[in-house]
Amino acid sequence: MTRPLVAQVDLAALRANVARVRQYAPDASMLAVVKANAYGHGLERVLPALDGADGLALLELDAALRLRACGYARTIVLLEGCFEAREVPAVAASGIEIVVHSRSQIAMLREAKPGPRIGVHVKVNTGMNRLGFAPPAVPAICDELAALPAVEIRTVMTHFASADEDGGIDAPLARFAAACRGLAWPRSLANSAGIVRFAEVGGEWVRPGIMLYGATPFTRRSAASLGVAPVMKLRSRLIGVQTLAAGESVGYGASFTAREPARIGIVACGYADGYPRHAPNGTPVLVCGRRTGTVGRVSMDMLAVDLAGIPDADVDSEVVLWGEGLPIDEVAAAAGTVGYELLCAVAPRVAFDTVAPAAAHA
Ligand SMILES: *Cc1c(COP(=O)(O)O)cnc(C)c1O
Repeated sequence: MTRPLVAQVDLAALRANVARVRQYAPDASMLAVVKANAYGHGLERVLPALDGADGLALLELDAALRLRACGYARTIVLLEGCFEAREVPAVAASGIEIVVHSRSQIAMLREAKPGPRIGVHVKVNTGMNRLGFAPPAVPAICDELAALPAVEIRTVMTHFASADEDGGIDAPLARFAAACRGLAWPRSLANSAGIVRFAEVGGEWVRPGIMLYGATPFTRRSAASLGVAPVMKLRSRLIGVQTLAAGESVGYGASFTAREPARIGIVACGYADGYPRHAPNGTPVLVCGRRTGTVGRVSMDMLAVDLAGIPDADVDSEVVLWGEGLPIDEVAAAAGTVGYELLCAVAPRVAFDTVAPAAAHA
């Protein structure tokens, strides 16, 4: 028997989430964000369900080239642009667009050989203070880029530090508006959190990531309340059942001790699969479709769950670590992290399975 841990990817849910994002920003063009192997779902695997998007955004050049190699013909944007000048010819030859966020990247484009123009997205730093040009410098930077024969500016863009918080976008929006004053290029601002409040954020392009995969960018709003459904279901089975006497414990470090006799199940899933090792006792899990919690410390290949109240659970019983019926955001919150991290952490050794690989509809 093969190890029963499987990440099941529901392409119909992904397709529906793309449509849901469209409803939030009906007039904007959409770049579906597929960085980090499509947030852990598998880039090639999810591609057929993303044909409702106008293009894709990611930051790994090798993956972008793979997309072209498998025939993806729409816009592809590298969200951090080129890291080295030798990437510029590959980008130009493949019609891949790039973010430009630094003077050193402008210098790379200045050196570019004559050829097809490279689509460029000029990044403005509106307070995130990671990448981008200071707002007052933006008009001159745009003039400089627009004058380069290798370049065609596509958008002026920014990324919010706190679009998931009330009031978190007022100051950045004002800075962005000041940077763009008098510039005619389309604007690109909204990540998932910005899309949910698109009426305030606006822009001609949007860049949804986490929402497409059916998780929430917010701490206080569930994915279900946003109208998106989980795409990944991480499922496994019980591979062992133990009966503990009062006073006995389970797992490394004996971090759970039974106060009364207890039945616990051992699940084939551990931190080497990407399950968070820091998940405390009581992190939610479904066993036989019923909600229970983890007990004891998560180990490399296994974790334990409480079977109190699930008397029919036994070896081979179905376990859901997250997905439909158990939002990944609840598991993440229990473990002190976010759904983004859990999705991206699903390990290469986990088997994947695709359900509902629905044909593209027109
Ligand atoms: C990752 C990323 C996004 C998508 O963010 P989500 O919160 O996942 O929607 C959008 N824009 C940029 C520049 C990003 O790096």
